[in-house]
Amino acid sequence: APAIEFDDVVFTYGTREFGQEMDDADSLVLHKLNLQVPEGKRVAIVGPSGAGKSTVLQLIERFYDVNRGAVRVFGKDIRDYSRSDLRDVLGYVEQDAPVLSGSLRENLTLGLGDVGDDRCMEALERVNLGYLATRSEQGLDGPVGESGASLSGGERQRLAIARALLSNKRILLFDEATANLDSHNERQIGDVLRNMAGNRTVLVVAHRLSTIMDADLIHVLEHGRLVASGTHSELVVKS
Ligand code: ADP
Ligand code: ADP
Repeated sequence: APAIEFDDVVFTYGTREFGQEMDDADSLVLHKLNLQVPEGKRVAIVGPSGAGKSTVLQLIERFYDVNRGAVRVFGKDIRDYSRSDLRDVLGYVEQDAPVLSGSLRENLTLGLGDVGDDRCMEALERVNLGYLATRSEQGLDGPVGESGASLSGGERQRLAIARALLSNKRILLFDEATANLDSHNERQIGDVLRNMAGNRTVLVVAHRLSTIMDADLIHVLEHGRLVASGTHSELVVKS
């Protein structure tokens, strides 16, 4: 089964119950949306503002329930997952993750249990933040920055990605559309997404094509409908 599958999903930010008749097509945010995110692939969703991209992520996380159709994760309807089982599978890379006042290690591994130094350093280096651990004599047990608040937006973002890399979530969700990236950070995040190795599935909502040039699969969404899918070279992508 695909990592994520939208099967004829109809959704509106209204108050309708599941299955209730949809008469007002204009208010629909997703119109019978079908799309798949194959396991182990890096998949991007692009499209104009208002197309429904962020809504797709929020439905995967079950912030809202679909009005019709189904969202499946590894073949199972997400309504059949407990909240905690779904959370164990899905990692959302937050844009504005707070930086804790604790150590760099605590910021990296909060909620993950024991994580060895080697893995922490590897994750930091993958996001080009190795310097955070070497500029303090205490290394990983030193403070996050001069003080946490002194990290730039891009550094906080990359720290959030490092945290996601350390988690064992099988699916990582990333909403670039809400990210505040300068071109330097954008390039670094593009590198990270490219390098997210192995059997992990990555779904990125993007509006900058540069970060998704070599996504394995790009879905183009317009007005809540899938209008094209393919690799970058297969698509003349509009955004
Ligand atoms: P995108 O991420 O592609 O810009 P969104 O998923 O944010 O698109 O929005 C899709 C549509 O849903 C837009 O018309 C938007 O105005 C509407 N919308 C998004 N969030 C809400 C909300 N919380 N309540 C009502 N309408 C919303
Ligand atoms: P907009 O309407 O501007 O697209 P959203 O309603 O999509 O904004 O998002 C509002 C806030 O929620 C943003 O700060 C964004 O970072 C956060 N957010 C958006 N999507 C998700 C998500 N899938 N999981 C967690 N937080 C999210």
